[in-house]
Amino acid sequence: MTIDRVHAAREIAAETGVDLMVLTPGSDLRYLVGYNAHPLERLTALAVPARGEAFLVVPRLEAPMVAASPAGSLGLDVLAWDETDDPFAMLAGAATARLGRAPGRVAVGARSWAEHALGVQCAVAGSELGLASPVIDRLRMVKSAAEVEELAVAGAAIDRVHAHMGEWLRVGRTEAEVGADIAAAILDEGHVSVDFVIVGSGPNGASPHHELSDRTIEAGDVVVVDLGGGIPTGYRSDCTRTYTVGGPPSADVAEWYAVLQAAQSASVAAVRPGVTAEAIDEAARTVIADAGWGEHFIHRTGHGIGLDTHEAPYIVAGNDIPLVPGMAFSVEPGIYLAGRCGARIEDIVVCTEDGVRVLNEGPRELVELPG
Ligand code: ZN
Ligand code: ZN
Repeated sequence: MTIDRVHAAREIAAETGVDLMVLTPGSDLRYLVGYNAHPLERLTALAVPARGEAFLVVPRLEAPMVAASPAGSLGLDVLAWDETDDPFAMLAGAATARLGRAPGRVAVGARSWAEHALGVQCAVAGSELGLASPVIDRLRMVKSAAEVEELAVAGAAIDRVHAHMGEWLRVGRTEAEVGADIAAAILDEGHVSVDFVIVGSGPNGASPHHELSDRTIEAGDVVVVDLGGGIPTGYRSDCTRTYTVGGPPSADVAEWYAVLQAAQSASVAAVRPGVTAEAIDEAARTVIADAGWGEHFIHRTGHGIGLDTHEAPYIVAGNDIPLVPGMAFSVEPGIYLAGRCGARIEDIVVCTEDGVRVLNEGPRELVELPG
């Protein structure tokens, strides 16, 4: 960890007219200074004024944890506050001293708690409150080679879980039973957190964010399995495969599943520098719509991934941001037939200098499990 990311953020803040950024526990704070703090009501914040050095405001009882984290070796001033202090006033005072005036435009992390965001704003009379995402996302969106390798490690681990699916996904078991086994396997494969386990069997597969239920898997079911979690460095995995269990699904499934597979592969193949995020969405959507299934593809094609599972850039119509090498995101079109079943194919990909690197492996065909 170096101070470079903080300095880069300060530069973008100054350039975009943000006087002060305040980042509370969460992925922005972890990204900038390597402090993986637990969010609590007491204010912990990294303050980045557009001029002068950034500083941390932390409850005194947590100061030893900051010192022990990578943030402790960055040379940042740490303002430790006692239980009866007003940490917001301390933060505002220190920022004002660095800027030489009170900050006018204050930006907070998009996933900061409201009580912290409003506390900062109230402490700086007359300030205007906005989001820090336009500043921080510009940095976080473009992964370094080291970050790409972390995503690759997470991807390989979740691929190993999918590779063992036949041991758990069987006729007669409930989604919840299957999900419990999968969650344990995600941890066994080197993740430290399980963010979600989606086992959408039969009609449940038509609900893209269905998680687990007590529905029992039946022979011939189509099952959407979407898994993700975090590895020790905080980087996330997210991969969907669709299975059939205990016998072939009804005859039409193969036909529209082939459309979905062609759409996902066209979308992945379209990834290269200069192509817009919305063009990647369009690449998948066109294939599905041309085959007559457009109304059943009910979500965007993908989302950025890094320290958060869902982050910029979003792969959706209207997002005309051009891809640059280092951008990492999911490509996950789906077809959902209400009341019957659904299917989705999801890989994490990275835009490279001359094209695309796919971080997930394993078959994208409808995988037939014996049941
Ligand atoms: Zn997913
Ligand atoms: Zn996803």
